[in-house]
Amino acid sequence: MKKLLPAILLFLFATTAFAQQTNYWQQKVDVKIDAVLDDANNTLDASISMNYFNNSPDTLHYIWMHLWPNAYKNDKTALTDQLLENGSTKFYFSKEEERGYINRLNFQVDELVADIEDHPQHQDIIKLILPQPLAPGNKIKIETPYRLKLPYNFSRSGYIGKSYQLTQWYPKPAVYDRKGWHPIPYLDQGEFYSEFGDYTVSIKLPSSYTVASTGKISASSKENNTDSFYTQTLVYQQNNIHDFAWFADKNFEVLHDTLQLASKTIDVYAYYNAQNAKLWKNSIAYIKSAIKTKSSWLGEYPYPVVSVVEKAGDEDGGGMEYPTITLISKTENEKLLDYLINHEVGHNWFYGILASNERQHPWMDEGMNSYYDKRYATNQYGTTGVDILGDDSKFMNTRKPEDFQQTLLATVTGLKKDQPIETPSDKFTVLNYNLIPYEKAAQWMQLLEKEIGTASFDSVMKTYYNRWQFKHPYPEDFKSIAEEVSGKDLAHVFSLLQQKGSIVPPQKKKIKLVSFFSLKDSDKNHYISALPAIGYNFYDKFMIGGLLHNYNLPFSKFQFYAMPLYATGSKQLNGLGGMSYDFFPGNNGQCLTIGISGARFTGDHYIDSTGAKNFQPFSKIVPTAKFVFANKNPRSSVTKYIRWKTYFISETGLLFNRDTSLPIPVDVITYPKESRYLNQLELVVEDNRKLYPYKATLQAAQGKGFVRTDLTLNYFFNYASEGGMNVRFFAGKFF
Ligand SMILES: [Zn+2]
Repeated sequence: MKKLLPAILLFLFATTAFAQQTNYWQQKVDVKIDAVLDDANNTLDASISMNYFNNSPDTLHYIWMHLWPNAYKNDKTALTDQLLENGSTKFYFSKEEERGYINRLNFQVDELVADIEDHPQHQDIIKLILPQPLAPGNKIKIETPYRLKLPYNFSRSGYIGKSYQLTQWYPKPAVYDRKGWHPIPYLDQGEFYSEFGDYTVSIKLPSSYTVASTGKISASSKENNTDSFYTQTLVYQQNNIHDFAWFADKNFEVLHDTLQLASKTIDVYAYYNAQNAKLWKNSIAYIKSAIKTKSSWLGEYPYPVVSVVEKAGDEDGGGMEYPTITLISKTENEKLLDYLINHEVGHNWFYGILASNERQHPWMDEGMNSYYDKRYATNQYGTTGVDILGDDSKFMNTRKPEDFQQTLLATVTGLKKDQPIETPSDKFTVLNYNLIPYEKAAQWMQLLEKEIGTASFDSVMKTYYNRWQFKHPYPEDFKSIAEEVSGKDLAHVFSLLQQKGSIVPPQKKKIKLVSFFSLKDSDKNHYISALPAIGYNFYDKFMIGGLLHNYNLPFSKFQFYAMPLYATGSKQLNGLGGMSYDFFPGNNGQCLTIGISGARFTGDHYIDSTGAKNFQPFSKIVPTAKFVFANKNPRSSVTKYIRWKTYFISETGLLFNRDTSLPIPVDVITYPKESRYLNQLELVVEDNRKLYPYKATLQAAQGKGFVRTDLTLNYFFNYASEGGMNVRFFAGKFF
């Protein structure tokens, strides 16, 4: 009987998968927009008409509608809060004219005026009340005019000078799926979830602009408005997409070619700023490689066109994807450009076609896509990582990590500051958002590949693509396909998505001495870095020596530094040193550090009557213990810790004694060694938030013959415009 078990399981999986497929439904939203861009005022006047098909089994009485341009309306939106929490004040302190909004809305549903209600929290979401209930299987036409005041591009949408990024630029229904409604405010950290449909978009703007857009151009015309002013009207069309973006710039240079895929020929476009023509000369080849590799690994690219656009401005790094079109920010070198193009074009598969909920399960698009980045990079360059340091000198080549993302992830994980892969985008810390749904989820995909074998993994991904293209898959749908196709119970692999900690098993590390530093293979080596050191003080004069330490990424729990220095003035051996050990007793950021440090220098000197210089050394030894308290919210900017330090200080003093026993009394100079100590206990609560940060320190100190307590409060009072005032309160008492 046991022999039959896999077959029975397979049968069960097949039937459940089949059941899911037959019960599956999703809404459809066909969109038609006519828009006119006014580049003198940075506004856009438009009308939108949406055919909303209710394929759900439920009667709908309202539709949650995203008005994401309102995210830039004032400083009370979810976007503002998140940007501040993430440490950016650029939008908070922006000028009124740099902000943006959508207005002049007048919703009609099947030509009846429809009421709208505010969302209880978010200004960029409204509830569209349907004049008549929408029964299952029926459709309605939703229409409204609107005006956009475009914001400066603070996040993804708006203008940079006279370059325009029209993204999240129209009213859009939230997704209604088998788990209910998904109204979400616009956020910078956290992406999207939208309904599929067919789009026709007409754009009118001055003919001096070149437009790069989602979809294929289906019509264009040029109109002569006045003697010297021409406008153009461009119509773009694309079926089976869930978003539409377009970009207009007067400085675009365009490269075009076609690419033959198994079943069709597609158009390939690159739009870039004229001054970067050299960097972008091979961009078409990069786009083609991205399309070809993913088409073979997952399934053929389904759209007739693919475009890549260089974003205006100097903001470094990264890109942003929309159906059939992606945006790439300023890039340093061709290899990085290839890497970014591959990643962003890859998003056509992950989220573009396989439209999972990016806000809720960012690993499903970023992690799967990053897995293929590694595979692509291995194919093209023989290495998995992207060289973000870009320095190809011999010095750096022997020291930089193969994959800096991996080093950073190992660092965060080592500090127990990581979060599970299965975490919603907006719940990640900034650093974790850039590492965990990307790098850690990609490592998890590699683990899955290892678990079931590459051939089985590839057929899992192809099946996933075939069954879920143009649909909304959830993690459980991916799991059920992985188990069905591989024929394995993968619960233990999928449970890792919910856990903190490293996916990669730790390796036994070797101790290695290096000059200066090294981050290379830091998963295999403990580096002890040696480098020259110099110092200076008034009594010791110049000091030369060396520094030996093991501070590196990822951090070791045991850390030390030793800096012996020979003083050319006092001819003494001075120096600094210290060591510490970190314990992580919990999973919420608690950390106990025990350490000791010491230093020895010359504190003074005295030239006696014989002209001899007598140096008076000063040394201290400081044992310390610090405990950082748990904080359940990883995004919190509050830190609470208690710290104990004892200073053992030893100084050589200077004492004059008049010896009166002699016939002629003389001064006798001695250099007595004095020792003292100071115990210090501190309780600190600080909030390093971007606005109104504060720090409260309660301190008790005890030395020979005294006990003192004091309280220090520091509070930064921000002004309405930039800048502010530091307020300090101090109270102390001796006992
Ligand atoms: Zn991405």
